[in-house]
Parts: sequence; C-alpha cells; structure tokens
Amino acid sequence: MKNIILMGPPGAGKGTNAKRITSFYKIPHISTGDMFREAIKNKTPLGELANSYMSKGLLVPDEVTIGLVKERLSKDDCKDGYLLDGFPRTLVQAEALTKLSEEINRPITSVINIIVPEDILIDRICGRRVCKVCGAPYHVRNLKPKVEGVCDLCGGELVQRKDDNEETLKSRLEEYHKQTEPLIAYYNKLGVVTDVDGTKDLDLLLEDIKTILKD
Ligand code: ADP
Ligand code: ZN
Repeated sequence: MKNIILMGPPGAGKGTNAKRITSFYKIPHISTGDMFREAIKNKTPLGELANSYMSKGLLVPDEVTIGLVKERLSKDDCKDGYLLDGFPRTLVQAEALTKLSEEINRPITSVINIIVPEDILIDRICGRRVCKVCGAPYHVRNLKPKVEGVCDLCGGELVQRKDDNEETLKSRLEEYHKQTEPLIAYYNKLGVVTDVDGTKDLDLLLEDIKTILKD
C-alpha cells in the first residue's frame, strides 16, 4: 500500500519528484499548493482567501486546508493509495490527517523527507520559472527551456510564481522551520520517515525513493 507524504522545505523539489513518483505508481498526486493556485486562477472565494495568505508567504488557515484535503481524500481514486505534496504543514493538520486517513482505511505508510541545504533552496526558488499553461518547472540556469521563456512541453509562456521572490521566501522558510519541520518528529515516532538527498540527480533520486517504497 502506498499512502505517502512528501515533505521538505520550499524549493526542495516536492512538486517535481511528486509527479515522477505518482506517474510511476499510478496514484493521485495531491498538492495543496496546486489546489490553491487553481482556485486563484479560477477566481473562486477559496482562491481569494488562499491568495491573501500565499502572497505573504504565510500558511493558509488549518480549517480551510484540512477541509480541502478531506474532500479530496474521500474521492474514489485514493482507494489504491495517494501521495500528499505540501500537506500536512502543521501539527493540527497532521493530527487531522491521522484521523482522516484511518477513516478511509489508508493510514500513512511512508513519509519521504527531502533534504536540501538552505543556500541551494534560495537559489532554486529565485531562479524558478513555471509554465503558465501546464505548470512544468524550469530554472533560469539549471533547467533552461530550449527557447527562452517558452515551455518545451506545450509552448506555454514561462512565468515566475508570485510567491517566488526573496521577500516572500523568507516568510515561507520561517513558516517551514517553525510549523512544518517539527512534524518530522511526529512521524519519526510512528517510524515511517526516511530522509532522501534532494540535491541528487532526479533519476537517481527516483531510484532511491522506489527502494524505500518497495514493500
Ligand atoms: P512551496 O512548498 O514551494 O512553498 P507549495 O505550492 O507547496 O510551495 O505552497 C505554496 C503556498 O501555498 C504556501 O506558502 C502556503 O501559503 C500555501 N499552502 C500550501 N499547502 C498548505 C498547507 N498544507 N497549509 C497551509 N498553507 C498551505
Ligand atoms: Zn507547458
């Protein structure tokens, strides 16, 4: 059973690795950040609320985020496992998830904790560009598209995420250290955490993760 949480600071590569893991195991990729960005794009009330926190680098309130994940986890496609990316981020969220995941008979089986030094995180985030259309990630130096400003996959325009600037990143890192990092201890008590090296080549990292997830 693959009921996975992918953890790590902003810029660790959760989104990129999540996509690779979920396409290999054919399980849904549940990213609260993506869900909020989708709501912002569609100008829904949830989007408006989420944007007021995200644009400052702050966490969206627990009750909103938990409600969203509860709804998503109750869908049929989570019956054979799931991967959470960016959730839980607080102790209250983690406790809610423990309950929710047991209710659907899919308790968390592994927490993969992506480790990346802080100077690399800052460089990755400040140089990150994403496709406006399909969301594919790029970097101005480390992962350039074939044509500047244009997505290799779909031809969409490459833009900078609104919260990918030095000022907002500072708050995001603070939130991470204060609220999210302590969750490693919470899951360590359950004996489900494995650290992986987020600076590794993506293919090698995927091999490491497959070895961890093999049961
Ligand atoms: P990153 O991990 O690079 O910061 P995400 O896309 O996961 O990017 O999250 C972007 C923003 O969305 C966060 O800074 C926060 O404002 C909001 N967000 C995402 N997930 C959560 C969550 N579980 N709880 C509260 N806020 C969240
Ligand atoms: Zn694209």
